[in-house]
Amino acid sequence: MRMQVVEDGKPGQASDKDKLPAIPITVAGGDGIGPEIMASVLSILVAAGAHLDAEFVEVGEQVYLRGNTSGIPQEAWDSIARTGVMLKAPITTPQGGGYKSLNVTMRKTLGLYANVRPCRTYKPVVETRHPDMDVVIVRENEEDLYAGIEHRQTQDVAQCLKLITRRGSERIARYAFEYARKQGRRKVTCMVKDNIMKVTDGLFHRVFDEVAQEYPEIEAKSQIVDFGMANFVHRPEEYDVVVLPNLYGDILSDIAAQMTGSVGLGGSVNIGSGGAIFEAIHGSAPDLPGDVANPSGLLLAGVEMLRHLGRGAVAAKVMNAWLCTLEDGIHTRDIAGQHTAEHAGTRRFTEAVIERLGSRPEKLPAVAEPAESAEVEEESSAIAIEIRSRVREEKVLAGVDVFVDWDGIGPDELAIRLQAAAGVLFELKMITNRGVKVWPNGREETLCTDHWRCRFEAGGRKIEDVAELLLKLANSGIEFIKTEHLYRFDGKPGYSMGQGQ
Ligand code: NAD
Repeated sequence: MRMQVVEDGKPGQASDKDKLPAIPITVAGGDGIGPEIMASVLSILVAAGAHLDAEFVEVGEQVYLRGNTSGIPQEAWDSIARTGVMLKAPITTPQGGGYKSLNVTMRKTLGLYANVRPCRTYKPVVETRHPDMDVVIVRENEEDLYAGIEHRQTQDVAQCLKLITRRGSERIARYAFEYARKQGRRKVTCMVKDNIMKVTDGLFHRVFDEVAQEYPEIEAKSQIVDFGMANFVHRPEEYDVVVLPNLYGDILSDIAAQMTGSVGLGGSVNIGSGGAIFEAIHGSAPDLPGDVANPSGLLLAGVEMLRHLGRGAVAAKVMNAWLCTLEDGIHTRDIAGQHTAEHAGTRRFTEAVIERLGSRPEKLPAVAEPAESAEVEEESSAIAIEIRSRVREEKVLAGVDVFVDWDGIGPDELAIRLQAAAGVLFELKMITNRGVKVWPNGREETLCTDHWRCRFEAGGRKIEDVAELLLKLANSGIEFIKTEHLYRFDGKPGYSMGQGQ
């Protein structure tokens, strides 16, 4: 369904007063509180003069229940392909097997590699234990443990593959620095766990450091993620932009959102080569009755969407009216506290924002309003990223880790069987169990499962030699369940050494 939204907040024909051309966007009303907060946000955007040509699509629970396991019908994909921009209310994922995460499907299909979540507090009008927080979390959205590559390999052991790429790391690091530059932010902090995951998180960290060199005016810092998150909760004012791989980013962005005072205050954007999806950070809140939800998260997502579309003046007008509403103490239930003057439902809060369009806040910092012009196109906040590095290092096969499913007595016995089967092509160097070296010189106390990594090494071998080794193992009744080849890159090992070495 396509319709133009005009000044009374209802679908209709654009009025003569409209100066700017209507911009096509895709709108998904969502589930639970979704339709209610979407109606609120659209009426505010329209009253502010954002001329949007909205294509309404249905995604989410009803689509799932009709048998579409992704929750996204073809019409929705077609609409996003046309508009490149979606304003999306939260959806409900039905419980039980078979349903895919709509958000993950959209991110991956559209290549939305960055999740950007500004999290700030509104001192003194919204109560929070962290009054001085103004951060932006930039989360890598496609890689890491979210590649969805998982296997159960033995009776005892399941694994999930963590994939970090140089290109993906460069793109997100560059996005974080470009964002900081464009928004006048001064510092970018990277959080990783490369004291443990030296190869994967080590790559993310190395690329971050390389990219940081190109932005000398911005302070670049890296922290081990466990300390980093603990410190973030303690001293959020030390952070400005934080960039993280997918899983850590998922966790920190929820922590940061909660710290602002309410999940109802957070908006975010998933952005990438195939478009941008603007949404609140919270879910469909099925526990809430009608006319209670805070529409602010979706409204702030809408403000970011306007900036992305080059409508910075309207975005600033909406933002200032919203800040005035908070400042005047008109609060929804989730943010009510000692500064609340009026407890507002969703509808009253929406009216209050509309009434304040054109006003500027006094206690909270106002957003500068660029002059609106029908003639001059405003600059979009969108950031185009070009991946520059293309590393080619000499790659040499140095051996193979053969993973074996075996529930025999102990590693010494396994080593004897492996050595007898392997012959002279490769030398058995070590056996680990859950990453701990158990042969040679293992310790009795180490808990061993039925999943053994058996490292064979030899210089100057080819891939055919690995195949021959595997055939020999198979012929000796050794059940290998997977292999990982050991490569050296420009002479440096591209693999971990195993704990206990
Ligand atoms: P939720 O975010 O919906 O709710 C968590 C808590 O926050 C609840 O107490 C809720 O009442 C409150 N809350 C959320 N939004 C609020 C608002 N705008 N104003 C006031 N209070 C608000 O998380 P949940 O309960 O874990 O998930 C409910 C459903 O939402 C699930 O089906 C989940 O899969 C889905 N979900 C969707 C998205 C999305 O579409 N982006 C994100 C998260 C969860």
